[in-house]
Amino acid sequence: MGKIQVMDEWLSNKIAAGEVVERPSSVVKELVENAIDAGSTSIEVFLEEAGLTSIQVTDNGSGMDEEDALLSFGRHATSKISTERDLFRIRTLGFRGEALASIASVSKITLKTSDGETSGLEVQLEGGHVISNTPTAFRKGTDITVSQLFFNTPARLKYLKTIQTELGHTIDLMNRLALAYPEIAFKLVHNGGILLQTNGRGNVQQVLAAIYGMQNAKKMISFQTASNDYKVHGFISLPEVTRASKNYMSIFVNGRWVKHYLIQKAIVDAYHTYLPIERYPIAVIYVEGDPQLTDVNVHPAKLQIRLSKEQELLPLIEKAVRESIRSAIHVPLAQKKE
Ligand code: ADP
Ligand code: MG
Repeated sequence: MGKIQVMDEWLSNKIAAGEVVERPSSVVKELVENAIDAGSTSIEVFLEEAGLTSIQVTDNGSGMDEEDALLSFGRHATSKISTERDLFRIRTLGFRGEALASIASVSKITLKTSDGETSGLEVQLEGGHVISNTPTAFRKGTDITVSQLFFNTPARLKYLKTIQTELGHTIDLMNRLALAYPEIAFKLVHNGGILLQTNGRGNVQQVLAAIYGMQNAKKMISFQTASNDYKVHGFISLPEVTRASKNYMSIFVNGRWVKHYLIQKAIVDAYHTYLPIERYPIAVIYVEGDPQLTDVNVHPAKLQIRLSKEQELLPLIEKAVRESIRSAIHVPLAQKKE
């Protein structure tokens, strides 16, 4: 008899979880992105002990009916992609249909959801297995609580860092999501204390104020530019507002936060000698282009993307940033001399 066996779904979910679910912030990311994909305008995240004890995400999105709620925890269960053609025109954040299955396999979950038409439902899972499923009165939307993350994968649990480090990852994530979606009201609460709250009115400068403080937000200038293939807009700090790390330059491509070192370099180059040595600006850059110019399917966590026509995009950004900085600096100077 041969040695090869096809592994059961439960085991393969647990292995996939190793890739998708690295730490509490990865769970928050997947749950909040699902809430965004469901069209929510208000998303609240409650953490206990940085999410090690529990992570609750509440949204006012589409919700699910009973059939979808139970299907959603299946591997490769997704409502977002059905043909190969869809794969190259992805507009939603999730599409692999493996996040809920992976998270469920390494935690205990309570899901409450309703699509507003059929009555609500409460489902409980443990280590990926449904242990109860009860009809419950619930408003339209979804409320999912993930507790005891990694309770059945002790090796993964050991690898986690301190509460402060884990919380830091989630704060960074929520800041980026709030910047990516100024039209969604976000709230992040840790052990009962509010860490971030945005109003969902669509004003990026108000989101910047919620994250970096009003004084810094007032010292950020807006710019916009476009080429044949790309539209770019954003906010960049005056050279007097700097940070010791490049991480305060946030880049979004078609609504998705990405690590893009060449765009960060273009921004820094644009400041030229205006920046003190080893200091970097605060910036938020939104790039919009045909989804077909971006290859999102590079990394399981979807943080890295490839862009076509970078040779068009990078100088476009550098030029627009340089011109905004120059005019912001020189106009007030000229006025002072008078
Ligand atoms: P993906 O997001 O890649 O489709 P997930 O495992 O994250 O895969 O979710 C599976 C499916 O469950 C989604 O496609 C969606 O239909 C449904 N779903 C998950 N979370 C929510 C939510 N908060 N509101 C409505 N539907 C949801
Ligand atoms: Mg998802």
